[in-house]
Amino acid sequence: MDGDNSRGTLIMQWADELARHSESPDWLTRTYLTNAHHGAAATLTAWMQEAGMIVRRDAAGNVIGRYEGLTPDAPALLTGSHFDTVRNAGKYDGNLGILLPIACIRDWHRQGKRFPFAIEVIGFAEEEGVRFKATLLGSRAIAGTFDNTVLDKRDDQGKTMREVMREAGFDPAGLPQAAHKPENVLAFMEVHIEQGPVLLDENLPVGVVTAISGASRFLVTATGLAGHAGTVPMGLRRDAAMTAAEIGLYIEKRCSGIPGLVGTVGQFDVPNGAANVVPGKAVFTIDVRAETDNVRLAAVRDVLAEMQNIAARRKVALDINPTHEAKSVPCAPWLQEQLGKAIGSFGLPVRHLPSGAGHDAMAIASITDVAMLFVRCGNGGISHHPDETMTAEDAQIAANVFSRFVEHFAAKR
Ligand SMILES: [Zn+2]
Repeated sequence: MDGDNSRGTLIMQWADELARHSESPDWLTRTYLTNAHHGAAATLTAWMQEAGMIVRRDAAGNVIGRYEGLTPDAPALLTGSHFDTVRNAGKYDGNLGILLPIACIRDWHRQGKRFPFAIEVIGFAEEEGVRFKATLLGSRAIAGTFDNTVLDKRDDQGKTMREVMREAGFDPAGLPQAAHKPENVLAFMEVHIEQGPVLLDENLPVGVVTAISGASRFLVTATGLAGHAGTVPMGLRRDAAMTAAEIGLYIEKRCSGIPGLVGTVGQFDVPNGAANVVPGKAVFTIDVRAETDNVRLAAVRDVLAEMQNIAARRKVALDINPTHEAKSVPCAPWLQEQLGKAIGSFGLPVRHLPSGAGHDAMAIASITDVAMLFVRCGNGGISHHPDETMTAEDAQIAANVFSRFVEHFAAKR
């Protein structure tokens, strides 16, 4: 089975087929509980059943395929990822992590192979947060951490999540029952495309995720004094945009050269700016992420301190609003070790790397130990974009690694 590309080819075919369930005929968009979303759920259900799984939907709309172990009701090794997408998405983000385990289980089912544990493949109904501006809905339901206040959030048509769920036949009152009991779960392992260029750059098909990076985000308004670009001498200016620019350059410098640390100014506006006006106002965002919280918090402290220095020197006022704060979620060392052994058994180097993006594993970490297998992206590592790509060869390697991981899986005592 390891010599051919049959599973890799099947996974790629399935990804193409699943991508036809889209809200748009021209590109892939599949948001929570739309017709496209229902279509994808039905297709996943059929493939899971054909692979020997018993399939159910929970109150959040998650698609859960269970491949029983040697004894009924054995605790389960959980795997899976999300089948919702961003707007104008790629085919593999999320979907790969559902399709790949189905392809592996399909083979075990044909061979009549069962394990001392059950395997549950979860198609998480919602991760990206596009329709209701709330993320990780599916995995939070499974983890028992679903925040009921999001049920009142509205989509662009003005419908609340509660209404949309009821119309689709899912009862929000049943959400507590969607939670998995920790004692019935052995671990969670998510396969996902890297969504970045590291594996591609190092010519490696797969990698072991060490942690899902924590993040700190801020929205900053700099207020100086607008003036005539011709008449205000350089030394008398209170330029809000150049203050923001100097801060941005400091962030870039502070976050460079430290492994696992990244800092970004992704939005940078000069409201009502004009070519002949010294900017009186600038609005910008800061996003700092790191594999470990200590490294992130130290960088944030330095950035906030230097911002005050820069603003004071330039006589510009800063209004700094924290908009997001998430701790790093480490992947369990015992699972990383077993995953590394599976990779090494194919003669491949074991590359460890953090995940700068958030994933369902973050939510599941509150009920069980988690691990993630990253698979190389093509096209420079682009994701959340139709150019997102990967190869059948890499899908095959990842499936082989996943299979070996499961076949040698030893639960923590
Ligand atoms: Zn994803």
